[in-house]
Amino acid sequence: MTRVTTPRDRRMSTRAVHLPRPAVPHEPPVGLPVYRTAVFEFETMQDYADVLGGRKPGYVYSRIDNPTTDAFAAALAELEGAEAGQAFASGMAAISTTLLALLRAGDHVVAQADLYGGTYSLLAHVLPRFGVTATLVPGGDAEAVAAAIRPETALVYAETVANPTMTVADLPGLAAVTKAAGVPLVVDSTFATPIVCRPVEWGANLVLHSATKYIGGHSDTTGGAVVGSAELVARVRAMRAELGGMLSPEEAFLLHRGLQTLPLRVERHCRSALAFATAIAEHPAVESVTYPGLPAHRGHALAGKLFSTGDDGATMYGGCVLLTPHGGREAGMAVCDRLELGLVATSLGGVHTVVSHVPSTTHRQLDDAALDAAGIGPAAIRVSVGLEDPDDLVADFTQALDRS
Ligand SMILES: *Cc1c(COP(=O)(O)O)cnc(C)c1O
Repeated sequence: MTRVTTPRDRRMSTRAVHLPRPAVPHEPPVGLPVYRTAVFEFETMQDYADVLGGRKPGYVYSRIDNPTTDAFAAALAELEGAEAGQAFASGMAAISTTLLALLRAGDHVVAQADLYGGTYSLLAHVLPRFGVTATLVPGGDAEAVAAAIRPETALVYAETVANPTMTVADLPGLAAVTKAAGVPLVVDSTFATPIVCRPVEWGANLVLHSATKYIGGHSDTTGGAVVGSAELVARVRAMRAELGGMLSPEEAFLLHRGLQTLPLRVERHCRSALAFATAIAEHPAVESVTYPGLPAHRGHALAGKLFSTGDDGATMYGGCVLLTPHGGREAGMAVCDRLELGLVATSLGGVHTVVSHVPSTTHRQLDDAALDAAGIGPAAIRVSVGLEDPDDLVADFTQALDRS
């Protein structure tokens, strides 16, 4: 476009709006640039139409795509060994958008029974209003999942490590079942992160994350992601453009930064969690400790096969531990209240150790009988082991349990 006027010919309000734009530097920045813009400009109307119509690559509008958000999603896809990735405003935005992209009225979902609460609500309460039904399989064993598959089953849903019992999904078994049935295997891998386990390597077609947890890692950012086959991820991206659950570029910057220290943090979380689980299990006030790193855990051998080793050569089993003191609900709540280092708070995966009394928080809808059936004691406490020194953590929980 040839300019027929210069800025100095115009009034200040016009000049203030049409300020010079910074040139894109030739030297690539080492830090991730934050493209804090909702809108991208085109040379011509034809370019705009071509990019919007998918005939040319490019950016139009940050609800649809944004370079900073794409950089985070591509980085996570790289760590997961996946073809493609897309980012979302939260883990639930990633999960709901994925399910709505893959399902239609009349479809059926098979999922393991111990699901994240928000996912359970979607499958049990929200999706049935749109004609989608679900069968929840206790334990999520591959044989039981296979038996629950029907002609109208459209996907199988699992979590790599399920909250709060730390049940380990039989990913190769589930992948064999879904492959035979010709349906995608969708796995929420929030608790594992790609440092502990990469479900794509075991046959998952889509992997979901609440990046709010370990990926952000500092309890200060909300986000989510889906990675997997390029074809399925493209369908989820198209649905995100309709529903609008896009990640903001500011949050994408923090989550991308989080990925750079994820291996260091997760290995430390895992090593501390194992040391904590082993030591605290000895306390006389403890009824049980549920952690895949302990040989008594149902998923211990499976985790040994599916989970990666850290730099010290030892298998990493995740950073969350279910600690059940003797006594009832009050006993579990009182232990939480007596902690000096452990914070009473929701969420997990941050630098601080955080505790949650399971029957009064994440599983508050379950009565004692239902809790018992799910393998959760009335005093059960979920501990997200932080980056504090593990000896200090054991000392803190010991003083809290001593007073039980
Ligand atoms: C927290 C969490 C979610 C939801 O993520 P948000 O970022 O809170 O929306 C989904 N799945 C699992 C396993 C989670 O822990």
